[in-house]
Amino acid sequence: MTEPADVTEKQARKVAEEARQAEWRKPSFGKELFLGRLRLDLIDPWPAAEPRPDAEEFLAKLEAYLVAEVDGARIEREARIPDEVFHGLAALGAFGMKIDREYGGLGLSNLHYCRALTLIGSASPAVGALLSAHQSIGVPQPLKTFGTPEQKRAFLPRLAAGEVSAFLLTEPDVGSDPARLGTVAEPVEGGYRLDGVKLWATNGTVATLLVVMARVPGKGITAFVVEGDSPGITVERRNEFLGLRGLENSVTRFHDVFVPQENVIGGLGKGLKIALTTLNTGRLSLPAMCVGASKWSLAVAREWSAERVQWGRPVSQHEAVAKKMAFIAATTYAMESTLDLCCILADDDRNDIRIEAALIKLFASETAWLVADELIQIRGGRGYETAASQAARGERAAEAEQVLRDLRINRIFEGSTEIMHLLIAREAVDAHLTVAGDIIDPEAGVGRKARAGARAGAFYARWLPSLAVGRGQMPNGYAEFGPLAPHLRYVERTSRKLARSTFYGMSRWQGGLEHKQAFLGRIVDIGAELFAMSAVCVRARAEREHRAAGHELADLFCQQSRLRVEALFAALWENTDSLDVEATRRVLGGRYAFLEQGIIPRSTEGAWVSAWQPGPATVEDVRRRIPPFTAGDR
Ligand SMILES: Cc1cc2nc3c(=O)[nH]c(=O)nc-3n(C[C@H](O)[C@H](O)[C@H](O)COP(=O)(O)OP(=O)(O)OC[C@H]3O[C@@H](n4cnc5c(N)ncnc54)[C@H](O)[C@@H]3O)c2cc1C
Repeated sequence: MTEPADVTEKQARKVAEEARQAEWRKPSFGKELFLGRLRLDLIDPWPAAEPRPDAEEFLAKLEAYLVAEVDGARIEREARIPDEVFHGLAALGAFGMKIDREYGGLGLSNLHYCRALTLIGSASPAVGALLSAHQSIGVPQPLKTFGTPEQKRAFLPRLAAGEVSAFLLTEPDVGSDPARLGTVAEPVEGGYRLDGVKLWATNGTVATLLVVMARVPGKGITAFVVEGDSPGITVERRNEFLGLRGLENSVTRFHDVFVPQENVIGGLGKGLKIALTTLNTGRLSLPAMCVGASKWSLAVAREWSAERVQWGRPVSQHEAVAKKMAFIAATTYAMESTLDLCCILADDDRNDIRIEAALIKLFASETAWLVADELIQIRGGRGYETAASQAARGERAAEAEQVLRDLRINRIFEGSTEIMHLLIAREAVDAHLTVAGDIIDPEAGVGRKARAGARAGAFYARWLPSLAVGRGQMPNGYAEFGPLAPHLRYVERTSRKLARSTFYGMSRWQGGLEHKQAFLGRIVDIGAELFAMSAVCVRARAEREHRAAGHELADLFCQQSRLRVEALFAALWENTDSLDVEATRRVLGGRYAFLEQGIIPRSTEGAWVSAWQPGPATVEDVRRRIPPFTAGDR
């Protein structure tokens, strides 16, 4: 039996740090925002998206197909996406949305790809997850950036034609901390032999091409393209979850699996860097589905709350319900604006969008969850009832409880909220660590510390005064934004305040700041609100079709957002963080064990984390084989 690797916090951090893309070659709106500089010129005027009639035509066909052929309720009921849906999507080219045209794909921009995912997710979130895992983290995306021409020619046409791919990083003992990775790729004649067990691979039960992360001894974590049918691979289980019941998610065992040398992606030891870089744009796909869920929630909330009468009025006319509706409308507008902006910035490739993509993943996954929760409240008992049960009683069905369940995972996978807070905070303080990091590094010698001191002196002498004044203090600042100008003035002033607060936190806690996760989380959440406020104002100004409505929604969002920002600032310094950490020590020490009495004792059978046994599988292969799609199938 393999024991979990003994990895210290320091080693885990070192692995994460090495996987980071250290250099900044292009400007970053997000990075500047955290440094107290509102670089509106990077996002205003609203960047024009490249016209793509072919993509618009694809979206129209996709919508028609989803309406006619994809039965989300059936997928939920049977916990299975039918084979014919795989084939229908393949016929449309949906498995190749992000694959370049020269390899048989549609070569969609990020904007059109995300629009497609919004549509697909609104028909069936499980189908959305299938296509997003396939293209945003599966084989196409890492090969696009890091693949050799031979790899692209060998694999991309197969994937564009409808073969499914999956991304396998997680293991029983490896979740947020890849430093513990246990799957090994031992060098052998002509390639590598893989041994290990991978957990929770989305598409893992149906995929024929896998990206597998494994440790090459002496070289580090490496990404491989692996044929799903290779001898020695067993799909041991299909996992079941709170939501996304149609998800084809596996436990996959690798026993002596040969992978040819030429299937290494991007070089030995580059696996995590590839995963992180892939996620720079890959992270846009989850928000796309959150946007879909929020739009759907808005529509249901509007129709229902206008019609449902209680206490002499439609429920929408009760203030408590009206506030929820306004939150859903404003948040949906902000989520969509911020995502579209990120997509357009990613597509025109002039900006580094790693912070922005991470911010929208964080913001959309957290707020879509709140939106769905508010919808359930507005729907009352019907919000808690399944759609099938509503229909069986003869009412119009709305699957609010399913939407909530399906959305929940977005706060956990592709970087949990806690990890996103740390990741974004790390990028936000990068400029400080670059100039002054050695001062607080216990391993830096006197010479390095002295040089850092000089560097920091020069940097802060210029930077700190720049935080004192700005356009946000001028009564006419951002006048070109008309009635939204006060909000941009607020964003400008607040970004400087955010930078000052971050600097104050760094001076106060120095190296200990990295353990102040609640403080860092609030800093990042303020940044996310400021980014979303900037996006809505810039979009509303550029809006042609719904100009007045856009202005109203942007104003509404900014007013709501400002209250959240103020609460977050207040909590930076007035909070129960230390008290909570102390209390948790006492909880773990058993002091409050009496609180757990009075219930039926829980089973304590089995380990919380299973240790995997190397060797061949001892259970049957439960792989689901989708019959290959041929053009004649439709
Ligand atoms: C439905 C589903 C689909 C998935 N699809 C895939 C897939 O396709 N491929 C794949 O490789 N993986 C996949 N995963 C795995 C997913 O990415 C992980 O669940 C996720 O990374 C979190 O890891 P974990 O569950 O082991 O939680 P843990 O890492 O054990 O974390 C537990 C809790 O501690 C917090 N935490 C952990 N470390 C820190 C820290 N340093 N600071 C603060 N808080 C911390 C976490 O945020 C979380 O709240 C999937 C999971 C699910 C449930």
